[in-house]
Amino acid sequence: MQYNKNAEGEYIPLARKCVDTGMGIERTITILNGQSSVYDTEIFRPVIEAIEQDIPGGAYRYGSDAEQDRSVRIIADHVRSSTFILGDPKAPSPSNVGAGYVLRRLIRRAVRHGRKLGLGEGNANMLSPIARAVIEKFKGPYPELKENQARVIEELDGEEKKFLETLQKGEHEFEKLLPNLLKDPRKIMSGRLAFKLYDTYGFPIELSEELAAENGMKVNRGEFDEAFRKHQELSRSQGGQVFKGGLGDQGEMAVKYHTATHLLHRALRMVLGDHVAQKGSNITAERMRFDFSHPAPLSPDELKKVESLVNEAIKQDLPVTMTVMSLDEATASGAIALFGEKYESQVKVYTVGKSSEDFFSREVCGGPHVEHTGGMGTFKIQKEQSSSAGVRRIRAVLE
Ligand SMILES: [Zn+2]
Repeated sequence: MQYNKNAEGEYIPLARKCVDTGMGIERTITILNGQSSVYDTEIFRPVIEAIEQDIPGGAYRYGSDAEQDRSVRIIADHVRSSTFILGDPKAPSPSNVGAGYVLRRLIRRAVRHGRKLGLGEGNANMLSPIARAVIEKFKGPYPELKENQARVIEELDGEEKKFLETLQKGEHEFEKLLPNLLKDPRKIMSGRLAFKLYDTYGFPIELSEELAAENGMKVNRGEFDEAFRKHQELSRSQGGQVFKGGLGDQGEMAVKYHTATHLLHRALRMVLGDHVAQKGSNITAERMRFDFSHPAPLSPDELKKVESLVNEAIKQDLPVTMTVMSLDEATASGAIALFGEKYESQVKVYTVGKSSEDFFSREVCGGPHVEHTGGMGTFKIQKEQSSSAGVRRIRAVLE
């Protein structure tokens, strides 16, 4: 363990670093009991019993069917986590952002597996009886769970209801698509279509696959994964979009700011280390914003060093040159490329420096840039703050 994460989401290096073996109380008990899984221990047993009781017919017992057992373990684990999160009155409700989204996914995944098992006959409120079992089991050492039981149950039931509505909408859309899908002699549903259901209705891919299977079809999962990956890359790189689209209509000053982002990127790596990577940027004719990965706030001293490195590069009036090469050649020549960005086979590389060997900064980038750094003005950092977990943001101007 290296860092302490504070309430602002900043990672502060620990005074004493240590090795985390993952040997928590659950694993310790499992080993002391001579069991092979944490789910066999008395910690999980009552939770799993609550699930067993809720499966109609009483026919199923944990350990009797590998696939059902897996669903039971997922439900037990996710309901327990969700109960602990919701048991903290300061914790967020399920939502589409940040920690609320993690919670939403935990609950929805548990619901999905609950439906698979026919838990609570597939109706809403299938998770709250399990949450009650969690609270009973843990209320001794964690009295806040019992104190906040009403909230836990209400949020779980509410989220479950919302998710079931989403599923119904998705199923309805799927049924509308079905007559056309069935015309395909190969009986394959396109992955792009499954992605559209996911993207528009929040309809999980597993359910598209399930419904497809019920109708003797398969979903092209490779195509879905590809669409999903592209979508993620797009949202990740949107911060860097301004570089690809060019800055033509924003004028001379925006171009200067763009060159300044390269100088800043390099200066940050010189002062803080090579783990610094650009996470986004935003440029107007008046100022620039630059997001980058770094675990802790910058000290006044570090900020000063970064600022003067950039100003030094400006004062030296370094030439900026562009070369076209393959991405491999670019990285071999020391150019920084944005991680997760998709590049063409040939890329533009902008170098700020006296020669191709002796340079200050080199980056794969679409441009445009100034021809010389002189005349960019004086670089001034106005603010340094947290942008998100592990990402810092610098606002700066050229005066
Ligand atoms: Zn650039």
